[in-house]
Amino acid sequence: MKIMLLGAPGAGKGTVAKLLTALDGSIQISTGDILRAQVRAGSDLGKKAQEFMNAGDLVPDEVIMGMMEKRLQEPDCQKGFLLDGFPRTIPQAEQLKVLMEKINIDLDMVVNIDVPRDVILDRLCTRRTCNNGDCQEIYNVKSNPPKTEGICDKCGSPVIQRDDETEEAITHRLETFSEKTAPLIGYYEKEGKFINIPCTSSDDVVNAIKEKLSL
Ligand code: AMP
Repeated sequence: MKIMLLGAPGAGKGTVAKLLTALDGSIQISTGDILRAQVRAGSDLGKKAQEFMNAGDLVPDEVIMGMMEKRLQEPDCQKGFLLDGFPRTIPQAEQLKVLMEKINIDLDMVVNIDVPRDVILDRLCTRRTCNNGDCQEIYNVKSNPPKTEGICDKCGSPVIQRDDETEEAITHRLETFSEKTAPLIGYYEKEGKFINIPCTSSDDVVNAIKEKLSL
């Protein structure tokens, strides 16, 4: 499947993407994960991105588009992919359209995961992430804590609060979402293949997508 997942930070795009990969071997492409890996590696791209990310700002469109033009042409994308966190702005969506025509890719569906703001805020403030770049398992201190506090169940690495998940950065990320990313909903409604799924449970979101795709 080739699906774009839209939704605010904390709406569950990453969780839904992971659940969908298990269905048919499609891969998750998370621009946030790619950028964090570049920051950890200390690459030029990572150095450019880090300040924007820590402040809860978007990384400039040209940096993201250069990165995604390469990523979408890697061979593993042939199996299908779930776009998680990309595009984030109208210019990214417009450039993605041109890119997809150029490399002959068509999306099956654009899904907006629609979660109320109070749920999002609570989730982001209590979210914790495995610090191991190859794992990045997500926990929640209230609803899904690791078995041993601060240690990842899967790989034993430290479980941390991301630099961009302080209350200040979260508030700013949500403002950025409303201003720059939410307009994508109107854009893709017009483009077609758009569905809005108002669900707080990722399993319910996956079931709604399966139903739409007759899986
Ligand atoms: P995420 O893990 O998707 O919440 O992304 C974490 C951070 O990475 C965001 O707050 C942005 O700073 C940056 N980022 C991720 N995806 C994009 C994108 N498509 N455009 C611009 N910045 C992005």
